[in-house]
Amino acid sequence: MTDGSLITKVSEATAKDVDLAVAAAQKAVDTTWGLNAPGTLRAELLNKLANLMVQHKGELSAIEALDNGKTFGWAHDTDVTFAIDVIKYYAGWADKITGQTLETDERKLTYTRHEPIGVVGQILPWNFPPLATGNAIVLKSSEFTPLTSLRMAALAHEAGFPPGVLNVLTGYGNTVGAAIAAHPHIEKVAFTGSTLVGRKVMEAAARSNLKEVTLELGGKSPNVVFDDADLEQAVNWSAHGIFWNHGQACTAGSRIFVQAGIYDEFLKRFTERARAIKLGDPFAAGTDQGPQVSQIQYDRIMDYIASGKKAGATVHLGGDRFGTEGYFINPTIFTDTTPDMRIVQEEIFGPVGVVIKFEDEEDVIKQANDTMYGLAAAVFSKDLNRALKTAHKLRAGTAWVNCINQLHANVPFGGYKQSGIGRELGEYALHHYTHVKAVHVNFDHKM
Ligand code: NAD
Repeated sequence: MTDGSLITKVSEATAKDVDLAVAAAQKAVDTTWGLNAPGTLRAELLNKLANLMVQHKGELSAIEALDNGKTFGWAHDTDVTFAIDVIKYYAGWADKITGQTLETDERKLTYTRHEPIGVVGQILPWNFPPLATGNAIVLKSSEFTPLTSLRMAALAHEAGFPPGVLNVLTGYGNTVGAAIAAHPHIEKVAFTGSTLVGRKVMEAAARSNLKEVTLELGGKSPNVVFDDADLEQAVNWSAHGIFWNHGQACTAGSRIFVQAGIYDEFLKRFTERARAIKLGDPFAAGTDQGPQVSQIQYDRIMDYIASGKKAGATVHLGGDRFGTEGYFINPTIFTDTTPDMRIVQEEIFGPVGVVIKFEDEEDVIKQANDTMYGLAAAVFSKDLNRALKTAHKLRAGTAWVNCINQLHANVPFGGYKQSGIGRELGEYALHHYTHVKAVHVNFDHKM
């Protein structure tokens, strides 16, 4: 609950359960799913699941808010809405996955098939439990937010997915997560989480069976505000960029670069905007920000705040707990930072932003790219030439111009540098969920 008390208890899966889930998933692939299930059937089942989610939207949103601490409104209008969009989008693809016929020579027919990989593992974090489709899935939810994925498994069962197609395990990373990453019969693992754990997943995949790995990892995204930006809108977007979902967003615009000429005015308005954020019960109307997800995450954020203070940065706003119980942290703004500080370089994953002054395009591109991350970036300017030139030079998988944190089911999403490997969403993601087989047919049998 928001006061830190227990909501409920769930079973803890073990590595043995991963073996059972993989066996069930493999059986489904070999009998009722995989190449045995036509695309039209897969589309129909996914659409049924999406429709059930629409029917249960309020319930799923409430579970999310209870589990994660995010507001009911955001869970409803963003997370669950987006999850439904994604499932519907891929339902549309299910019967449109085709290979190519290729010209080789006149005696031959050569073509490709895009076949399911088989059993794929999904390891999820706790901020946006994503949903994947296609092959048979062994999914581990986060130990902090296991509830929605359990409800989703029940809805998938109700939609009519054959047994074994979707297997949900609730458990810890170092046991269940590690067993998925190292499993010899899982041929692909999609991991969403921190860069630190992503590295471990990749190592385990390499050591076990060289399974394909896609990684959606952390970020320290730059949010660049030029002096000709629509100031009011840039302030609103920037506040949304860092404070949305309590700063617990991989895309959070946590480094806010503001051009020198408007720095003071921006900071004044941005501070007012941050001060107006209403913290409280995620279920109460008007609440913008609930508690952080856990004591561990609360402590981690407070440790970053302490490190910023110690390193000599100025706490311009917040920097402390809200209220006396629960894991609430006031929206926090740091100024007077230097590039080497941990609060400038490392992902905090909380409502903590740094506001940094820059002189010109060259200066901001250099500062913004000075990070190991490359997940996303945002640029604010009324001069579209300048905005696009800058967006193109920022090393990130997503660049937003005059907006931030916009995700769509049909638009690829993923990271440059240590923010990840591969792309989720859109047509691009399909490539990570199929094997391509090239078939060569020799008509006249002759050498
Ligand atoms: P985390 O890396 O601590 O945990 C993610 C998942 O990995 C959890 O299910 C955890 O149990 C599991 N895990 C832990 N140790 C493991 C191991 N040794 N082997 C296999 N699995 C293991 O991340 P988190 O704190 O839950 O989530 C926040 C992080 O996720 C942030 O860094 C955030 O940026 C990132 N994230 C990225 C995206 C994206 O799309 N790029 C989306 C959401 C979150």
